[in-house]
Order: sequence, then structure tokens, then C-alpha cells
Amino acid sequence: MKPSAFEYHRPETLEEALTVLAELDGDGKVLAGGQSLVPMLNMRLAAPAHLVDINRLSELARIDVTPDAVTVGAIARHAEVEHSADAERVLPLLRQALSHVAHPTIRNRGTTVGSIVHADPAGEMPSVLALLGGSVQLASVSGSRAVPVDDFFLAPLESATRPGEVATSVTFPIPPPHTGTAWLEVSRRHGDYAMCGLGALVTLDEDLRISAARATYVSMGPTPVTVDFTELVGGRSYDAADWAAAARLVGSVVEPEEDIHATAEYRRHLAGVLTGRALKAAAAHAVARTEVAA
Ligand SMILES: Cc1cc2nc3c(=O)[nH]c(=O)nc-3n(C[C@H](O)[C@H](O)[C@H](O)COP(=O)(O)OP(=O)(O)OC[C@H]3O[C@@H](n4cnc5c(N)ncnc54)[C@H](O)[C@@H]3O)c2cc1C
Repeated sequence: MKPSAFEYHRPETLEEALTVLAELDGDGKVLAGGQSLVPMLNMRLAAPAHLVDINRLSELARIDVTPDAVTVGAIARHAEVEHSADAERVLPLLRQALSHVAHPTIRNRGTTVGSIVHADPAGEMPSVLALLGGSVQLASVSGSRAVPVDDFFLAPLESATRPGEVATSVTFPIPPPHTGTAWLEVSRRHGDYAMCGLGALVTLDEDLRISAARATYVSMGPTPVTVDFTELVGGRSYDAADWAAAARLVGSVVEPEEDIHATAEYRRHLAGVLTGRALKAAAAHAVARTEVAA
């Protein structure tokens, strides 16, 4: 199908983009990589009267790495974040998760910020932001605001972004030292949306005992679902943790839905199996990173 008619705007600066969006008074949609919006237009699941293309706003192309966080601008592509050596050094989870986002051609065009604003519960990057406790920076003609991830995802395909706002960047905080991460998922074919996927994070203390362990799941609820296992496995040495108990706990917490790809029961089963493996892998990653740093 072809999209219904729309007017196309291509501002050169953020200020211009925000002015155009304000004048459109809720009738305009931001176009970033177009990897979700264009298919939706073609299928007429979205029919905005105006598209505001932000791809010329080179000020939003940045990927900033500081000792505390990685901040990704709104037109940085998934592939640029995935291949940023600076980001990989401090936050390997970004590359671990991004390698599962669709296919390279889609990652060359789609943006990490767009994926987060799009708020698909099957998307990897919303869960990465939730696992790390990050935030989204939003701007409009009335000013800017930062929304913590816990307040950002409202429902499937619904984020806290208001009409007239551009998400200018997302900030992924860097976890404490001695932290390891892992991303695991099961999909029908590599590059497909996951039937179940999760990011796991384990932090160890100086004696290699677990001080934090949690995981965030995709396709297990209407928004990213985070489960904290610290109480269950904390205080134990990383190699004596009861990961099987963590895997069992997950089954009673997640509430997956059934669809054409998998039953709810199968998704719940996957969540349990992948949880044990991912937490163990994250703990091993934490040990490896601790040894490299020593
Ligand atoms: C075949 C295929 C397979 C895919 N598989 C996966 C997958 O496995 N995992 C996954 O996570 N994703 C997948 N995607 C989606 C991909 O990751 C998209 O790139 C991403 O969801 C949206 O980013 P985008 O830059 O393309 O946004 P767009 O498509 O341009 O926009 C998406 C939505 O977000 C809004 N938006 C975008 N940027 C901003 C902004 N800065 N400020 C305000 N609003 C904004 C738009 O108005 C629109 O509503 C797939 C896409 C395709 C086509």
C-alpha cells in the first residue's frame, strides 16, 4: 500500500523543527530513521497530515561518552552506537543488545532514540534503557525536560513524548565497577523480533560476591519488565549463586501474551531458561571485566 498524503518538512536546526511542530499543533509526526514509521504509513496504521524530518539536525548526531554515562543523540543510527568503540568500552550491553536489533541494513538507518520513543515492548533498546535506569531528554518550544525511564514507557507503542516534542537524546548510565552484562533472546530467525529476550546485569563486590542482579525482558508485558534478583542471590559468591531459583522466580512474575509466534506458556518457559543462562553469563562477564581491570 501507499501512505495517505502528507506534507513533508525538512528543518535545518532543532529550533526550526520545534517551531514547525508547535505550528502544526499536534498534527505533525517526527521522522527519524523511518524504519518503524514508514511501514506504519504504508500500511496506513498511521496517517499524520505532516512529517517533520529531523535528519538534517546534525547537532543531534552525537554519541557522548563520559565517566558516568553514554548519551546518544536523536539521529545517531543503531549501527553507529553498536560500532562505537568508546561506548563499547564502558557499556558493552549496548553492542550486546544492538546485534539482535533487526538486520544490519535496518540498523544502518534506524535510530536508537527513535526505537525508544516508538516504545515497542518487543524492541531491545527500551529494555536496555530500563535495565540501566536511564532517561530521555525531550525538547519543545516551551523548554526541555528529562523523563526517567520508569515514567517513560506507558503502554505498547506509547511513550511519555508529547505532541510538539522532539526526543533530543537518551542517556544510558554506566553501572558501577565490577559489573557484567549479557543479552540473550530466542527468535524464529536471527533478526526477527524476539519471542522472549532479556538483558541481565550482575554487579560483584571486591570479594566477587553478588551485590546486584537484575534483568529486563522484552515481549513479556506491555512495557519492559524488570525483575530484581538481588535479594534472592545477593551476598553469595558469583560461582555459588542459585541461578536456578532466579529462573523459577521469573515464571511467576512475567505475564506474556499469546500471539501467532508463541503461546504465553512457551514464552514464560523461555523466560525462565534464558534468565538462568543470562545471569550466569553476566556474572562471568563481571569477573572477566574485573580481571582485565586488575
Ligand atoms: C523489518 C524490520 C525489523 C525490525 N526488527 C527490529 C527488532 O528486532 N528489534 C527492534 O528493536 N527494532 C526492530 N525494528 C525497528 C527499528 O529498530 C527502528 O529503527 C526503530 O523502531 C525506530 O527507529 P527509527 O529511527 O526508524 O524511527 P521512525 O520509524 O522514524 O519513528 C518511529 C516513531 O518514533 C517517533 N520518533 C522517532 N524519533 C523521534 C524523536 N527523536 N523525537 C520524537 N519522536 C520520534 C516517530 O514519530 C514515530 O512515531 C525493525 C524494523 C524493521 C523494518
